Amino acid sequence: MNLVPVKTGLLTKKLFPNYVWDVQTSAKELFLTFDDGPTPEITNWTLETLSKYNAKATFFCIGNNIQKHPDIFNKILAEGHSIGNHTQNHIKGWKTKTKAYIDEVIEAQNVIASEPNLFRPPYGQLKPEQGKELIKLGYQVIMWDVLSFDWQKELSEETCLNNVISKSNPGSIIVFHDSIKASKNMMYALPKVLEHFSEKGFEFKTLG
Ligand SMILES: [Zn+2]
Repeated sequence: MNLVPVKTGLLTKKLFPNYVWDVQTSAKELFLTFDDGPTPEITNWTLETLSKYNAKATFFCIGNNIQKHPDIFNKILAEGHSIGNHTQNHIKGWKTKTKAYIDEVIEAQNVIASEPNLFRPPYGQLKPEQGKELIKLGYQVIMWDVLSFDWQKELSEETCLNNVISKSNPGSIIVFHDSIKASKNMMYALPKVLEHFSEKGFEFKTLG
């Protein structure tokens, strides 16, 4: 059993109304997100796969990974996707003091080299005061509507795919990872998700 559900419940969304859990729309639009890159082996494949379906997405990048792979980072931007901040070193909010946490986010934002915009906390962990501070600084805190659980290696590829297919609706923000760890499931599920929802007339858009 997972402690966190595949689909975020209404209660959670109501408890944290200042965070973005989905996009309010009745249009056939979905919002794919990829956390933890850029990762050379995975992100290039992800970009190619998205482009086959004319799909746009939002990449929540780790500052340290951007510094290691600036070429891939620039390719994400050049292909019209959005970039979000995922801290400099992928730290845990609950274990980090607010000042240190904010410094990590600002460090990553300097690497991203744009104004504060989108932020997603690693592990979904954020203390209320950290969230408040980030919103004050101009960030939208982007959580999710649907978790693919692609990072769980013991999960079957079919279950990962089914998590997304069965729980996504117009406006859903969907979490995948462009990381090595998640690649077994993500590389199986992503093309099928794009195929499935494209056939139903959905478009895949960026956040922000
Ligand atoms: Zn992450």
